[in-house]
Formats: sequence, structure tokens, C-alpha cells
Amino acid sequence: MSDPVAHRLIADLLGRVGDAAAAAGVRVDAAHDFEIAAGSGAVEVVGLCESVVRIAQGLQADAVAVLDVRRREVVGESVDERELCRSLFAEIGLARQVSATAGESTYRLTRDLADHPEAHALLHEGRVNQSVVAAVCRETVFLDPQRRAEVDAELAPALAELGPKRAAAAARRLVIDKEPHAAFERTVRAREERHVRLRPELDAMATLSVYAPAAQLVAAWQRFDNEASARRVDGDPRTIAKIACDAAVEALTGIRVATDGSAQVGVEVGVLMRPETLYGADDASAVLQGYGPIPGELARQLATGERSWLRRFFTRPDGHRLEAADPRRRRFPAGVARLVRAADDLCARLWCECRVREIDHVLPHARGGESVLDNADGDCRADNLVKETRGWRVDRDHDGVLTWSTPTGHRYESRHGQHAAVARLSGTSPPTGTWSPMEARLQHLVTVSRR
Ligand SMILES: [Zn+2]
Repeated sequence: MSDPVAHRLIADLLGRVGDAAAAAGVRVDAAHDFEIAAGSGAVEVVGLCESVVRIAQGLQADAVAVLDVRRREVVGESVDERELCRSLFAEIGLARQVSATAGESTYRLTRDLADHPEAHALLHEGRVNQSVVAAVCRETVFLDPQRRAEVDAELAPALAELGPKRAAAAARRLVIDKEPHAAFERTVRAREERHVRLRPELDAMATLSVYAPAAQLVAAWQRFDNEASARRVDGDPRTIAKIACDAAVEALTGIRVATDGSAQVGVEVGVLMRPETLYGADDASAVLQGYGPIPGELARQLATGERSWLRRFFTRPDGHRLEAADPRRRRFPAGVARLVRAADDLCARLWCECRVREIDHVLPHARGGESVLDNADGDCRADNLVKETRGWRVDRDHDGVLTWSTPTGHRYESRHGQHAAVARLSGTSPPTGTWSPMEARLQHLVTVSRR
């Protein structure tokens, strides 16, 4: 069976990209010799590539709209809307090689574009960036379709000259003028989205961001800024920025930060490393849970601090591997769950980088899957739910290759995912027996260091 709609979309894409390339070719030929010598042709190609991305984003929205209609036709009226959306978000996410959450953004933008025909047309022509269109759609989210179309029409003439921030501000002004009360309601609803996020940065640093009502955060910022200014006046040698940062961390953790920025953090299960690294016999990298790889030397500092404590991950004191513990039970032993999270706390699904929320059986328990490390994966909530949804299936073969099959018959294979990280770490477990001499020595050292 052929799919004329998909063929039309592909032909449309090729046609629009061809037109843009031809126009760029004409501009290349029109350049003067001194401009060509300075690289004008290369600049045309840079601009052309950007146009191609925008054109593709416009057509991607059309393709998502087709997918949405088709899927609804196939499943019929009776289907649970939430389950259908979950399945669509995950399918779009996999096709785009991103998380289900990012797939959801694509889906929502597609629906929004239906109410913004002018912006959609500009996107199609490659004249406006998707981020600009998305910014406008976000601002008009509380208006009814007719009002959204009015804002769209009023903004369109200027849109190609605006970046996302200016476009959002221009749209926001129009929205407030059209429905002042809706603008206020929006501030109330936005509070429901408040959250905290941790983003790993280079060199064992990270950014903690708090999304909360602006008035509250301005108050918090002023508190840290005032405190920093006061301490600076009292002769604190740190910069204002450093003092404010340390004051914020102290307020959040209750732990004193030294002037060099170090602190005695209670690292609970936080640092995963080989016993040899802890002892100092090698300098292999370790894993700070919630962050990722850190140098062995830093891991040792954290793990031997006064407030730290150690947990044996790989073996029990009797030498048995954790994963050997009662494989028939429904839930994973706490140690396996902790190990999966500690080794890599990002979702096991290909291209998904959301945080692990559930430790799940790869082969479901109902189909004979055992509660052992080899059958454990950490998933984000969306992917854990979609696995159970109609038309989806996840399998792992003997080589550890994980295959996701979607309702549209697409298959995605993952060979180097989270599970590989777990296997690498669990491979460092001492073979059998009770305490190895190394571990006995370590235990002694740690006990001594605590006194
Ligand atoms: Zn996920």
C-alpha cells in the first residue's frame, strides 16, 4: 500500500529546499570578485543551511499533524486520550532521537500552529525560526483560536525580524491588551509549573535552577546579594558572586561552605568507585550520583569526609553478588535499584536523557523476567508508562542489545545504553569469598578515619 500523503510531504520538502538552494545559487553568482575572495559564497551556504532547517521544521509539523489524524482514525473514539498522547509523544521522540518530553513539545507546537497560520507559512518558507514561532505560541496559549489568529495576523509582518525574546514580548503585549484578566490568570496557572532542575556542567560543577514565581526569586536573590555585600564589607576576601553562591548553598543545605568553596557534604550513596580508587591504588574515574563521572581524587575526598559513609554495592559481606538475591520476587532488591541509578541516572531509552524515576524489568515479570541486575533498567516516567501501552514492546537479546518496537512498526536498537554502564561497574565486584584483603584493609582504614 502506498502513502500519497507522505510522498506529497517529501516532494514538498524537496521542492522548497530546491527553491531555497536555487535562490542561494543566484546570490552566489551575483557576488563581486572581492566578495567571493572574502568568503561570500560560504556565508550563502551557512544561511541556506539555516533556511533548510526552518523549512524542515515547518514540514515536520505537517507530518506530525498527519500522524495525529491517522492514529486517531486507527484507534477510534474509545481510546484513552492520555494513553494515546503518551504513545504519540514517545513515537515522535524516538523518530527525532530525543526524549518523550521533547517529542511532546513538537506535538504541542504542531497543534498550536493550526491557530497561527501566518507564522506557520513563514516557517514553511524558511523565513522564521521555529524557536520564534514556538515563543509566540507559548504566549498565546490562553487565548481562544480566533484571538490567537488575530495575534498571529498582527505579528506576522514583523516576525521575520524578531528573535524569540522580542517575539514573545510583542505577543505578550497583544495578549494582555486583548484579555487583561487572562494575562493575570496565566500568572496563577504558571505557578503549577514550578520546579527545581540540576544541570551537570564541566569540571565537577553543576547548575541548580529554580523555576518559581518571579517575586519570590527576586526576594531570594536580594537576600543572597545583601548578605554577600555585608560580608564583603566585613572583610571577606571572596568576590560578591562567590559569597552569594556560598550563602545560597548554605541556605539550601545547612552545611557551611569554606572560603575555598569546599564543603563537608554528606555523600549518601553519592559516590560510586572501585575499591582500588578509594584506597588510592589507582586513579580510575568515579561516578557522583546525579552528576556523572568525576576524578578519582575528588571522589576520595568526598568519600572519606567526616560526614560521608560507604555502602558496599557489588557484593554482600558474605561475598554473594547482590543480583543473586531472590530473583523470583516481583520487585528489585534495593541494592540493584540503587546500583542502576548510581551507575547512570538517565533513562535507559535510546536518546532519552530524562532522570530515572522507575527501576523496571526489561523482560516483564509477567513474562518470566527475573528481578536481577541483568534484567534491570532505569526509565523516566513517560518511557516506563509507554512500554506498557498498546503497540509498544521492548526486548533485550543475549548480547544486551535493547530493541524498542513502536505502534507504527519502527524499531530502535540500543547497544551502548545505561545497561552497559551498570555492567561495567558491576564487573569490578570481587569474585567470591568474604572480604578481599583489599576490602578488609579499606574497612580498617575507613573505621580508623571515622574515630
Ligand atoms: Zn525516558
